[in-house]
Amino acid sequence: MSAAAPPVLSVVIPLLNEEDVLETTYSELKRHLDGINESYEIVFVDDGSTDRSRAILAAKSLVDPTVRVVALSRNFGHEMATTAGLHHARGQAVIVMDADLQDPPDLIPEFLKRWREGYLVVYGVRAKRERESTLKKLTSFLFYRLMGRIADVPIPPDTGDFRLMDRRVLEVYAKLNEDPRFFRGLITWIGFKQIGVPFIRRPRLAGVTKYRYSRLLKLALDTITAFSTLPSLLITITALLIFTLSVALTAGVLLLWSFGELELPGWGWAALGFLALWNIQFLALAILGEYLVRTHRHTQRRPLYIVESIIENGQATIP
Ligand code: UDP
Ligand code: MG
Repeated sequence: MSAAAPPVLSVVIPLLNEEDVLETTYSELKRHLDGINESYEIVFVDDGSTDRSRAILAAKSLVDPTVRVVALSRNFGHEMATTAGLHHARGQAVIVMDADLQDPPDLIPEFLKRWREGYLVVYGVRAKRERESTLKKLTSFLFYRLMGRIADVPIPPDTGDFRLMDRRVLEVYAKLNEDPRFFRGLITWIGFKQIGVPFIRRPRLAGVTKYRYSRLLKLALDTITAFSTLPSLLITITALLIFTLSVALTAGVLLLWSFGELELPGWGWAALGFLALWNIQFLALAILGEYLVRTHRHTQRRPLYIVESIIENGQATIP
């Protein structure tokens, strides 16, 4: 592979402190990539490792011209490391996978096959997770089900970052600058023909997970706020409901009082006053929320639409 001709395939691997697994991951990956008969490159993104990971990868790049290392200045987190890798990948098709062999490289030929069939995104679907804690399985199950219901675009459940993307998808991805970002959600948002391929997610080869529950919670909140306006809408609906009920209640009380059916003591008047004030505040908050949601949407600055093809005289062309 010469530097001038971009490879057919790039494999992007974001990693943080993976010295225990890198040698095995590298040789496993090489074995599979050498078997597919295509030009390729491996782009490792060192997300600010403090162990020997960077030195191991630098040594690999010395003996293997297919290896490139994008070394980040510090730890930017998995999502940003993935993004850096996608920005630096040169292949016609780009596969993202983890460094710990939880995403099996033997799926690569299947991904490529689907890509050749015309799918611009091929994502792995975890048919089964081996040796992951019940809590992690449960939280991720709930998260995907929730997102499936509330997200603007249907993010496919049980998918990880392990996926292949065509250059056309990456060109759009390069225009997306929002931060925080949820890689899988954005790829779903981009659209085009996408397909899932089931696989069994193996346990981590060695080392420990870098995802603590606090980070997963942050990821979940980032995702919900980036892809759903439902929470704000729920607040608005609740505010309107309570407002309607309060108006009915107040009207009823005043009616009874005017007909002399009800004695309204001093605290009763105060309560009605507070109810009105409280309702105005709640409604004001909901309205502010609705404006904020739209401002937030606008700051994401996503492309307004993405054209897949232009059809003229019955012929579809790619713009
Ligand atoms: N990772 C990263 N930056 C981080 C945290 C993790 O690049 O700040 C990498 C990590 O080295 C691995 C991938 O992201 O290649 C997935 O992380 P991990 O395996 O710890 O997560 P899990 O598979 O347990 O969800
Ligand atoms: Mg992992």
